[in-house]
Amino acid sequence: MKSNIRPGTTKIPRAIFPAPDHDHERCASTAIAYAETQCAARGQRLTPMRRHVLEALLASHKPLGAYEIIERLANKNGRPAPITVYRSLDFLRENGLVHRIESRNAFVACGHNHAGDDLVVFLICERCGAVGEAPGGGVAEALRASSRAAGFSPKNPLIEIVGICSHCRE
Ligand SMILES: [Zn+2]
Ligand SMILES: [Zn+2]
Repeated sequence: MKSNIRPGTTKIPRAIFPAPDHDHERCASTAIAYAETQCAARGQRLTPMRRHVLEALLASHKPLGAYEIIERLANKNGRPAPITVYRSLDFLRENGLVHRIESRNAFVACGHNHAGDDLVVFLICERCGAVGEAPGGGVAEALRASSRAAGFSPKNPLIEIVGICSHCRE
């Protein structure tokens, strides 16, 4: 399925759900390079811990919980203190390099430039666990309008949809 291309602001067109045999090394190295560029542009540092957390998440397109990240960063010197991992996750989220998937209480790396995107829709495959991101189109404004009509002050709307990805359906 080569037609599954996300339009928009990213320079390299990417499949929302890359094929199981895709070159994931390239996904991961592109995302690290993107993170470095973003941090440099903002005068921020991708410290070793921040980078390790991002690399752990970039091991696949599946979200990881904070404790799974800690386990993956464990080595012969022990495991990192949870607070350092949480702080790194906060930094990465604030800089748009990681998203939290609320319904899974887990985190997923993001190599997209979301500048100008109104809303990101997270598509969660219940078979393989992969998470894809689709642009929300005009949905965000409709959600804000109906929230306001209820006298409710909406924050950024967030949409997570569980289903079956194109590769698992085949
Ligand atoms: Zn990949
Ligand atoms: Zn799937």
